[in-house]
Amino acid sequence: MALVNRVSGFSSCSVSSHFGKAKTFGLNPICSLNCTSSSSSSSSSSSSSSSSFSSSSPFTEKHSVERYQRDSWVYNTQVEDASSWNLPFDSNSVRENDIALQLPELKKMLGVLREKRESGGCDGGGGSCGPGNVYLVGTGPGDPELLTLKAVRVIQSAHLLLYDRLVSNDVLELVGPDARLLYVGKTAGYHSRTQEEIHELLLSFAEAGATVVRLKGGDPLVFGRGGEEMDFLQKQGIQVKVIPGITAASGIAAELGIPLTHRGIANSVRFLTGHSRKGGTDPLFVAENAADPDSTLVVYMGLSTLPSLALKLMHHGLPSNTPAVAVERGTTPQQRLVFAELKDLADEISSAELVSPTLIVIGKVVALSPFWPHSSIEASLLVEAK
Ligand code: SAH
Repeated sequence: MALVNRVSGFSSCSVSSHFGKAKTFGLNPICSLNCTSSSSSSSSSSSSSSSSFSSSSPFTEKHSVERYQRDSWVYNTQVEDASSWNLPFDSNSVRENDIALQLPELKKMLGVLREKRESGGCDGGGGSCGPGNVYLVGTGPGDPELLTLKAVRVIQSAHLLLYDRLVSNDVLELVGPDARLLYVGKTAGYHSRTQEEIHELLLSFAEAGATVVRLKGGDPLVFGRGGEEMDFLQKQGIQVKVIPGITAASGIAAELGIPLTHRGIANSVRFLTGHSRKGGTDPLFVAENAADPDSTLVVYMGLSTLPSLALKLMHHGLPSNTPAVAVERGTTPQQRLVFAELKDLADEISSAELVSPTLIVIGKVVALSPFWPHSSIEASLLVEAK
């Protein structure tokens, strides 16, 4: 049995009794599938595939109206030069051409920075006028209140910030009005020439003494693919400082009241990627080692490979009734949850049409969540079993 919950956005819903404890976790009321939504995008499948101007997603797959206004310097240029860019004015095409559109403006900004530096007595090399700071900053799973103070300070002081789709719009709101934001997510579709230009820009900005920030969802060192840009900079002798973020596993476990480890129930926790190295749906040669009933398994990027992973885990001895939960857009107001036993999880996720980003937690500790919809006796037995 599964349950899909929404944390907010509902005008009316009936909250069933086992959600009573929600308040102790400081969550908004949660309601089950039969709630009526106040939002027109209530269908679970509408989320990130929506092409509407203001996306219901908290993440940056699409530009929000606010972002358009904030970055009007880019879009004004585009409107003026629409014929030369030959682009229809819609959010998707702007997104795809973000980098190309911004490069001229970024180069101008670089010129200003260099001039300032030279007029201040620096010629770009040596002395007290060394390179600027480059940071790799974790932005947490979406809720801006989960940022570290250090991350906020660095974000607010940055001259240039590069971000991808798992950085939430709320986090981008913190960026100072004079800073420049550059989207470099996968959907940007930039080709290698532009990638080289990004490298050059990063290096030039760093050399001109600017503070450059690469934003990454969650923790930058947990499935964060530090990024070609960082490798490039380090090879050029520019040191990149890392600011940790709350990884999706920690943020979501806290939100749901799931202890990732619990004495006598889970003595370890394992973060796993659902991505098969070879691509496709071939799952995870690690399933054999991961089928440990006394460990908690957290699967990142696991939506497409879950059906085969679940089968493999059960085949290698993980009980089919192991509690599990899939969480889409965790810690954001659009969060949705699917609770199920392991054997049913893939089907339940598919009927709920969960989309990325979704995190999957498998293990007995899931039944300790106050939102676990199955028998509370099950959970108390687990606790007594310690
Ligand atoms: N560096 C990130 C992970 C990047 S991999 C971190 O530390 O969290 C991307 C995967 O992370 C997604 O496919 C999803 O499985 C998970 N993820 C990140 N943010 C999430 C969120 N808010 N809700 C659900 N899953 C999330």
